[in-house]
Amino acid sequence: MAKYVWVNQDTCIGCGTCEGIAPDIFGLDEEGLAFVTLDNNQGIVPIPDDKLEDVQEAMEDCPTESVKVAEQPYEENA
Ligand code: SF4
Repeated sequence: MAKYVWVNQDTCIGCGTCEGIAPDIFGLDEEGLAFVTLDNNQGIVPIPDDKLEDVQEAMEDCPTESVKVAEQPYEENA
């Protein structure tokens, strides 16, 4: 099943851990906060299969639990 990821920038502290684990998925914006580069942090583009493990690790290692993974596109969850 496809999974989707986005970063809650309200709680992200810009530590860079997620980007270090999965540099193809996460970047830091001009304010130093993480975002998902796949879809500009909208949570609507499925995570590529070969990146799922990295995203899972980033989610587990984020110190503020700001990496959000869902089985449906984020807009549908809202
Ligand atoms: Fe933000 Fe978490 Fe990524 Fe650190 S690991 S930059 S707190 S989303």
